[in-house]
Amino acid sequence: MSRFWTDLARDLTPYVPGEQPRLPDLVKLNTNENPFGPSPRALEAIRGEAAETLRLYPDPKSSALRAALAAYHRVTPEQVFVGNGSDEVLAHAFAALLKHDPPLLFPDITYSFYPVYCRLFGIAHETVPLDGDMRVRIADYRRPAGAIILANPNAPTGVALARDKIATLLEEHPDVPVVIDEAYVDFGAQTAIPLIASHPNLLVVQTMSKSRSLAGLRVGYAIGDAALIEGLTRVKDSFNSYPLGRPAQSGAIAALQDEAWFAQARAAVIVGRARLSKGLSRLGLEVLPSSANFVFTRHPSRGGAMLAAALRQRAVLVRHFNAPRIADFLRITVGTDSQTDRLLEALASILAEAPAS
Ligand code: PMP
Repeated sequence: MSRFWTDLARDLTPYVPGEQPRLPDLVKLNTNENPFGPSPRALEAIRGEAAETLRLYPDPKSSALRAALAAYHRVTPEQVFVGNGSDEVLAHAFAALLKHDPPLLFPDITYSFYPVYCRLFGIAHETVPLDGDMRVRIADYRRPAGAIILANPNAPTGVALARDKIATLLEEHPDVPVVIDEAYVDFGAQTAIPLIASHPNLLVVQTMSKSRSLAGLRVGYAIGDAALIEGLTRVKDSFNSYPLGRPAQSGAIAALQDEAWFAQARAAVIVGRARLSKGLSRLGLEVLPSSANFVFTRHPSRGGAMLAAALRQRAVLVRHFNAPRIADFLRITVGTDSQTDRLLEALASILAEAPAS
């Protein structure tokens, strides 16, 4: 706290990302990074940008990347917005689209950045409880809404909604903006992008951080009706003209072109997820059905905080949220087979040692 802070800075409650420690031999399964690495073609493109041309500003409109994304997703470039990670894209969406008189609605258990943006932008919001199976129930959103945002698959649960459920939500709320945050969609959920053509109120947000293994490059994007995209662009051009540098723009284009790498890495995560889920079940943990690159899991009698701390002592990092309804759970990223084995061995030894609480 400093007397030099503005009221805005003083009143924020910043998001706390998973830690990024530099410990030797660490098994890092706490931030949903992809263990299989970026496409070699993306790396080559990024290296190609490590050149004298870095003295020049990048294309402020990211035109080539937006054209590549438009071709990939079968929309027009005017329907594509790009930003510095989907976190930035989401921030612009909150500012451009989600502040209205009735409150913004989102689930009580979801990406914990959403309430942070609400605070930053002064957006009134109301949370809608997930049902007993930790699922979003579309019928529960039949209430006054200024806008709606859902993560699909949801985080940190990993549970997905089928596209027809999103279609129902859109049909029930034709007059309010609906944002679907699809950070994890490539690991087994259905994208809502095909619904954009018939729903001018739908914005779909995706990222290159997870399924394309480029979290360090910071490339996220949104697809929606051109008028929604224009709203995001107005906010972006009032904030930062050049959110994506030259390496990010070129690397993202090359990653999109390497479909074989993408398909293989995605399939490996899906196979690894089944292996991880099975291993956890064998140890007596309950695992929610995941369509993401992580699982949400709990032991029937050992607390989440205890398990996360004991795993950390064994150099295995997982994510624990000390929040209502989910304090017993751990969110565990799908790693390589050897990382999963290290996790399962560590858990087995903790469960053998620690007294049930
Ligand atoms: N949405 C969800 C649901 C997430 O879990 C994350 C990752 N923390 C993001 C968006 C942001 O990812 P990025 O900024 O790396 O694109």
